[in-house]
Amino acid sequence: MIQSIDIRFDEIKREKEESPKEIEKLKEDLDLLKNAMEQDLSTLEEQKKRRRTVERELEEIELKFQKSKARLNDVKSNKEYQAVLKEIEELKELTFQKEEVVIKCMEDIEIQEKECADNNVNRKESEKEYKSKKEEFSKKMRDLDKEVKFLNEKRIHLCQDVDKDFFERYGRLKKHLKGRVVAQVIDTICQGCNLGIPPQQYNELIRGGSIISCPNCSRIIYWVDDKEI
Ligand SMILES: [Zn+2]
Repeated sequence: MIQSIDIRFDEIKREKEESPKEIEKLKEDLDLLKNAMEQDLSTLEEQKKRRRTVERELEEIELKFQKSKARLNDVKSNKEYQAVLKEIEELKELTFQKEEVVIKCMEDIEIQEKECADNNVNRKESEKEYKSKKEEFSKKMRDLDKEVKFLNEKRIHLCQDVDKDFFERYGRLKKHLKGRVVAQVIDTICQGCNLGIPPQQYNELIRGGSIISCPNCSRIIYWVDDKEI
């Protein structure tokens, strides 16, 4: 019984060490998503800024265009007339080019806005998962602490009942042996080391009444028909 409590203590210790790693991984993923979102938003801002800049340029070109058209009425010579016409043509071409840029910007912005929205959904889901796992983790830790407290009390209680000599031997063995300190003997074989117990000690063991150690591995041995100690 004390042995199974000690084994459970080791298990709890491992569980307590493993769980935070999973939470940390989720937190890392969430941080990555948040960074990606910030990046996306700043890209979107850049695209919108570029669009506004090009639209302002278009307004300036339009002003020049109107001025040039007005000048057509005032020109004195054919040469000058041709020059203004050329200027108007160039401004028309420039307007066309800038309008293309604005259309491209609008398309980019639309794509980027969709990506931001998608990432936002992903982020919210990840955040939800992280929070629920974190709560689950806290609850698990509380449960494990409760179990440790309960087992400790049980262990103290058991130790009071157990023979002092047996208990001292158990404590010494626990320091030296890995895993189980108490081993069952089945058909003369010690289950701790899988070696046979000499007949005399085996008979003594079956008779009961004293604490017997395996002569091979020093584990405390016990023998039962079908019952656990
Ligand atoms: Zn043994």
